[in-house]
Amino acid sequence: MDVVEQLIKPLNARQIRFCQAYARCLNATKAYMSVYEDSSKEAATTSAVALLAIPQIVAYVDHLQKEHAEVAGITEEWVLSRMKQLVNADPNELTQYRRVNCRFCWGHQNRYQWTPQEYKNALVVGQREAKCAGSEFHPPDCMGGMGYSPKREPNPTCPECAGDGEERAFFADTRTLSPGAKMLFAGVKTTQHGVEIKMHDQAAGMERLAKYIGMDRRTTQLVGAGGGPIQHEQTISHKRAADLSDDDLVRIIAEAQHAAEDSEGAEDGRAQE
Ligand SMILES: [Zn+2]
Repeated sequence: MDVVEQLIKPLNARQIRFCQAYARCLNATKAYMSVYEDSSKEAATTSAVALLAIPQIVAYVDHLQKEHAEVAGITEEWVLSRMKQLVNADPNELTQYRRVNCRFCWGHQNRYQWTPQEYKNALVVGQREAKCAGSEFHPPDCMGGMGYSPKREPNPTCPECAGDGEERAFFADTRTLSPGAKMLFAGVKTTQHGVEIKMHDQAAGMERLAKYIGMDRRTTQLVGAGGGPIQHEQTISHKRAADLSDDDLVRIIAEAQHAAEDSEGAEDGRAQE
């Protein structure tokens, strides 16, 4: 059995076509809709993300992409689309800083709120400690109730936290990320302080895209009357300041002054009206 046969063996016909479409266009929703034609755009996005979380699908897509890259070379369009995905990705998909309710936010009469298991544990520990100390056991106060959920919002009228709640870090299951967020995900690092989710540099991606469209070459930018471009903007936008001759500079400064005067004149005119 060759490599392709092995890769497609666990997939059904539609999944194979989805992989092929996705490897061509790198747009999961579009690829999904080209195979499952009756799907709405929203449902297609959700289902495509789910498909792209299946390891066998990922393996076949990877294989196709490598094949395409080998046959056609890595195309500019392909690199750009991946870079755009990286720049557009929402870091909140990977990790979030949340503020959630404190133990007193939603407890009855703002008393400490437990989860049922926590309270059972507290009873066991309390009984054991009382026995060791030879003292009478007093169960912990449970008047706040048992319904604590770490996902609930803070209570704005909470007398303990004043509505600020408590901080909580959240890390997503990276197997189910959207294609864009997967581009952003650069692995997990375990440190002495806990787990750290690493991300690729979105600012660097943005910089490369800016370079691609030539923004980095526009070292001088002059604006004409009403915020519009002046006549020679096109010429100087592709020249570095160091490349301009003295005559160029004199001309540009004069034009900028005229443009500013025109602009002021227009504003004065409006003010007098
Ligand atoms: Zn609170």
